[in-house]
Amino acid sequence: MSKSYNPYNNMLEVLEQAAKLLDLEENDYVTIKYPERELKVAVPVEMDDGSIRVFEGYRVQHSSSRGPCKGGIRYHQDVDIDEVKALAAWMSFKCAVVNIPYGGGKGAVKVDPKELSKNELKKLTRRYTAMILPLIGPERDIPAPDVNTDAEVMGWIMDTYSMFKGYTVPGVVTGKPIDMGGSLGRREATGRGVMFMTREILHRIGMPIIGTKVAVQGMGNVGGTAARLLHHEGCKIVAVSDVSGGIYCNTGLNVEEILSFLAHKDGKVLRDYDAPGVAHISNQDLLTIECDVLIPAALENQITERIAADIKATVIVEGANGPTTVEADKILEKHNKMIVPDILANAGGVVVSYFEWVQNIQSLMWDEEEVNRALEKIMIRAFNEVWDKKNENNTTMRMGAYMVAIDRMVRAKRIRGVFP
Ligand code: GLU
Repeated sequence: MSKSYNPYNNMLEVLEQAAKLLDLEENDYVTIKYPERELKVAVPVEMDDGSIRVFEGYRVQHSSSRGPCKGGIRYHQDVDIDEVKALAAWMSFKCAVVNIPYGGGKGAVKVDPKELSKNELKKLTRRYTAMILPLIGPERDIPAPDVNTDAEVMGWIMDTYSMFKGYTVPGVVTGKPIDMGGSLGRREATGRGVMFMTREILHRIGMPIIGTKVAVQGMGNVGGTAARLLHHEGCKIVAVSDVSGGIYCNTGLNVEEILSFLAHKDGKVLRDYDAPGVAHISNQDLLTIECDVLIPAALENQITERIAADIKATVIVEGANGPTTVEADKILEKHNKMIVPDILANAGGVVVSYFEWVQNIQSLMWDEEEVNRALEKIMIRAFNEVWDKKNENNTTMRMGAYMVAIDRMVRAKRIRGVFP
């Protein structure tokens, strides 16, 4: 990540704009500008060769006004505290915009997990969990998967936490394996939510879904599922990418085949994919390719002012957190692009995390149709609220979403007051 880009400042700028539109006094929202708690930990791991390496880890709790803090844990070599602070704040806004009873938090370890063996990764996860233990718990702060973490990692966190407590505590994390209290539908939930939001926005602006050309940056859990589900809905997926680069086919890619290729046990990447009519492109090319819908589903800071004016897509659905910079956003607005913002577009994951936590607390298990139906209902309700807010204020969907979210957070804070 470039040093000049600070995601926390990006977040603060958007917050200020929304607070202004809501006519808020500084007193109303000043607390939202600061995370409630930041914990930085040094995580030692005895590596397979006997050497000891120390990794930096973080857990940030942005807000607990509306409920326990909620948010993922990412493993990435480039993370820093500003990124985690921004991601924690975005979680507060995300939970507020879909109106689930959580605040926001986020955690990270500065590590490239591809460099670690499975055994080292497990030790890292267990030690990191032990070090953030005083902060987490089903009624205080509930981690979940994020970039480079998955159900297995959540399972290790749940087990470590439970060992310290002396009894099993499934509700301490979400996105767990199904066999240890995970929810059906959780793994696909973020991508499914992205599909619902793409469908809704196309409907609102009078574009058909059948034959609509879609480009997806990132073929991880979010991008891969969104591409698959949108393909099922009738969209033509013309371009996809991963860390190794992208592929493009104007008549549509074979999404199922690409996903099976990427799922290969030898860890295949798109650079190695070959099929008739498929051209190899860079990640940068993908963002500016000829298409109707662009779905950035990788990391922050992808759509920058350098490329914003070259984007051809009419609609952008932000599967990733913070993919668009404030400067790029202004350019996109000028070019009349319709953006479904991250805090709404990718909220499907945390919505089903909420269902998982509810199931854990009640010791119940919902079937998958029930999960997907409830997810769709919440996502569409939130979309409609944001859409109405945008129209009432003659603003963008991003501002509409922030206005809905901040209004809810400010109201909760006002009722609770400032302690003591
Ligand atoms: N990491 C996901 C996100 O950014 C999911 C968080 C959660 O389920 O708590 O929304």
